[in-house]
Amino acid sequence: MSGPSYDAIVVGAGPGGSTAATMMSESGLRVLLIDKDSFPRDKVCGDAISGKSMEALEKLGLVDQFETQKALPTWGLTISGPSGDQVEIPFTKDRHRRIPPGIVCQRERFDDILLNRAVRAGVIVIKGSVTKVLRKRDVVIGVATASGSETAHYFAPIVIGADGAYSIVARELGMEQLDDEHYSAGIRAYFSGVTGFNDGNYIEIHFVDESIPGYFWIFPLENGLSNVGVGILSSVIKKNNIRLKVMFQAMVSHPRFIERFSNATQLGPTKGWGLPLGSQPRSMAGNGWMLVGDAASLIDPFTGEGIGNAMISGILAAEWAQKAHEKQDFSAPFLGSYEKNVLELLDDELKISKTMQRLVKRKWLLNAVIRKASRSKEVSETITSMFFDLEARQKMASPWFYVKLLFA
Ligand SMILES: Cc1cc2nc3c(=O)[nH]c(=O)nc-3n(C[C@H](O)[C@H](O)[C@H](O)COP(=O)(O)OP(=O)(O)OC[C@H]3O[C@@H](n4cnc5c(N)ncnc54)[C@H](O)[C@@H]3O)c2cc1C
Repeated sequence: MSGPSYDAIVVGAGPGGSTAATMMSESGLRVLLIDKDSFPRDKVCGDAISGKSMEALEKLGLVDQFETQKALPTWGLTISGPSGDQVEIPFTKDRHRRIPPGIVCQRERFDDILLNRAVRAGVIVIKGSVTKVLRKRDVVIGVATASGSETAHYFAPIVIGADGAYSIVARELGMEQLDDEHYSAGIRAYFSGVTGFNDGNYIEIHFVDESIPGYFWIFPLENGLSNVGVGILSSVIKKNNIRLKVMFQAMVSHPRFIERFSNATQLGPTKGWGLPLGSQPRSMAGNGWMLVGDAASLIDPFTGEGIGNAMISGILAAEWAQKAHEKQDFSAPFLGSYEKNVLELLDDELKISKTMQRLVKRKWLLNAVIRKASRSKEVSETITSMFFDLEARQKMASPWFYVKLLFA
């Protein structure tokens, strides 16, 4: 076996992979980034880029590139419950700040900007479908790509698997598909002409009887477009024999939304993809390898957001790759510190979100919270901060929060 060598190889140029590759290259490592697709490419997603991702974008010096012509700033969230009660929650009191608290940006564009950032940082990018992880005994030493009958080998002391929900790197390393309690499925379509958005471009999450414990979303995009979708836990899909496309159509023509879609046109097909949830993260490191983002199963089990955690794990993986090169130690015990680091940062949040995910199964509770929030500033502010602030989310995950709320 022969082929070119690098300091690190990253498989997958989504937000996790491009972020990791950029940071490693900027710390002086020679990095190869391999993706099976030609960019710009579509990725099934809600396209909502939250506060956490905004911080990572700032670290990459990219916030300015996402100013209005590239993405739509979003200033808040509208939530409605099964009873139809609705609450509008601003993400911030400061509507004049330069950097918005969140943006909505089609992934085709978002991921391309991140990949270009990696190229500018000196990362070598090639198109190729990774089919195999190369090993010497139990140590990962590179990857193989295949195209028709052509095979190519690439070598590095560190391979980072950032190849998403159906990660070949994770599978090659012996990790099974997650069980259905820790996996969701979602479908989405783009529309033009949906009406009724809040003037702060609020993203909208609607809990409808048929969607619970998942939700129906309508996210406004630039140029009058919107991203519309539905996502739900895979175990519920199986148990209730749900067909997501049927559910999606039922939502779009639901009496609560039909008026808003009366002059809307669907652009392109309805597409689906999996969401590996952080209620059960995978093993993230071993001899010569690390996993980031969806490959490591880091999607927030309550909100369904995964871009921020992909970028944060990408930043941490890059830091540990650099330390490994400094120490010339690429062993499982050393790279295992990367996993510890990710869990230190995200584990509390993921556990709280898991509790929240269970709570929304109770429709009466969801109705009660949203009804109270629509009438109480204090409750609506707690929900607002829940999206950004771990302490507020912790508060909401406690049964006492609901006891106090219901009897207040
Ligand atoms: C329906 C839906 C809605 C969502 N909505 C949101 C949202 O609004 N906000 C949010 O924050 N998150 C959302 N998510 C989650 C988010 O999309 C993911 O968490 C995020 O894309 C993870 O980034 P990543 O870099 O880990 O992987 P990905 O973005 O999946 O990137 C993986 C890359 O690896 C490449 N690849 C795969 N296999 C190979 C291979 N064998 N060889 C080479 N390359 C390969 C792929 O081409 C791809 O470019 C949603 C997910 C779904 C399914």
